[in-house]
Amino acid sequence: QCQTPDDVMRVISEKGISFIDVKFSDPFGQWQHITIPSHEFSLDSFEEGIPFDGSSIRGWKGIQESDMLLIPDPKTAFIDPFIEEPTLSLICDVVDPITKEAYNRDPRQIAKKALEYLRASGIGDIAYFGPEAEFFIFDEIRFSNGANHSYYEVDSEEGWWNTGREENPNLGYKIPFKRGYFPVSPLDKTHHIRMEMVKTLEEVGLTVEREHHEVATAGQGEINFRFSDIVGSGDNILKYKYVLRNVGYRYGKFVTFMPKPLAGDNGSGMHVHMSIWNKGQNLFAGNGYAGLSDIALYAIGGIIKHAKAIAAFSNPTTNSYHRLVPGFEAPVRLAYSARNRSAAIRIPIVDSPKAKRIEVRFPDASSNPYLTFTALLMAAIDGIENRIHPGEPLDKDIYSLPPEELANVPQTPGSLQEAIDALKADNEFLLKGGVMDLDFINMWIETKQAEHDAIRLIPHPKEFELYFDI
Ligand code: GLN
Ligand code: MG
Ligand code: MG
Ligand code: MG
Repeated sequence: QCQTPDDVMRVISEKGISFIDVKFSDPFGQWQHITIPSHEFSLDSFEEGIPFDGSSIRGWKGIQESDMLLIPDPKTAFIDPFIEEPTLSLICDVVDPITKEAYNRDPRQIAKKALEYLRASGIGDIAYFGPEAEFFIFDEIRFSNGANHSYYEVDSEEGWWNTGREENPNLGYKIPFKRGYFPVSPLDKTHHIRMEMVKTLEEVGLTVEREHHEVATAGQGEINFRFSDIVGSGDNILKYKYVLRNVGYRYGKFVTFMPKPLAGDNGSGMHVHMSIWNKGQNLFAGNGYAGLSDIALYAIGGIIKHAKAIAAFSNPTTNSYHRLVPGFEAPVRLAYSARNRSAAIRIPIVDSPKAKRIEVRFPDASSNPYLTFTALLMAAIDGIENRIHPGEPLDKDIYSLPPEELANVPQTPGSLQEAIDALKADNEFLLKGGVMDLDFINMWIETKQAEHDAIRLIPHPKEFELYFDI
């Protein structure tokens, strides 16, 4: 674990590193990279930065002002396990080459500013985030592009029900639908791949706590790693996606974090466990409901109040809203509960006050983790500053409650459009302390609106079934 630029330079010479791969997150949470032979990399690179053309990154600068600088963070150094030549990876911040200030559309710097704002608010000095990103391992996905819509088929026995067609008739034994969930191998067909993922995650510096198959039929998984602060957990999620995809790829598999790849089965969420601390004290532990403090209740109040606007970041794809439906352990109501997995916020039962936290269940891993955590933290701070009480907990199975009992419980947004509209109307809590600015939020709204419209313009395959011969 490096701390300073000197540490990094020492590792480069001691380990015979030939390349430095500098990585940074684009606004949508995709890592981008530039590779530099180590003779071109020096202590100065940390000061002067590495120039690159930002105009080709979606959502970033126009061509007329395209030069930007990457500033590597020495604490993020890791040996890249997927590049054959000895290569050291460094995660970077993006700065303006003239002012040397944080680029306002750099998501990692936005997360840093959210932490600064937490400190400036006097509420706490650190916030911890423990994200749990679920994923699917598919054999291969074929896109049929003959028509003017892309309708995928999953080329494996796991996917046959998705198209309603049996392409490879079952002449031998195949694991039946839903039979490959928690049982041991050989029914757990992807265990060896998940184990390889765990080993590789530990090699690049994550501390893995457990891994397991997930509820959807054969091939869905989850690997949990140790929580960190806002930037650390953002870095970790991007590393996690990089490692999982690349390990999968080596097995000829495709790993996807798409929230709802299979109609009629569980989707993939990214639950976020979070707590706010001050001077070594967990501010969320107390004597209220489920061992929560008033501060924690207000934080919940803030997150519920702003949830629809948060969703524009935490559930930022049209596909996200296929997941937030009843019946698949994904939340549909903006309520909190100590038991209930259908509520947007669950309070895990824990013994020690140190472990007291809330689990926000609506986010998914199609989001940029830096922005998801930022939106959650800023909403929590807003709730604490304005003492927004979240009302009574909802300790019932929300999926099966009669409509009268749910009349006053707000719902998670039903579409990306609803989330975009909510963000348009409700973004002041994100602007506090200059954490996000209107330039960034407007870019986000425009980009997401364009995605939503692109899909709205295409006739859906299901419409042919329903209306073609009407
Ligand atoms: N897959 C579920 C979701 O979409 C969660 C399942 C679980 O972790 N219990 O959030
Ligand atoms: Mg979990
Ligand atoms: Mg899970
Ligand atoms: Mg969970």
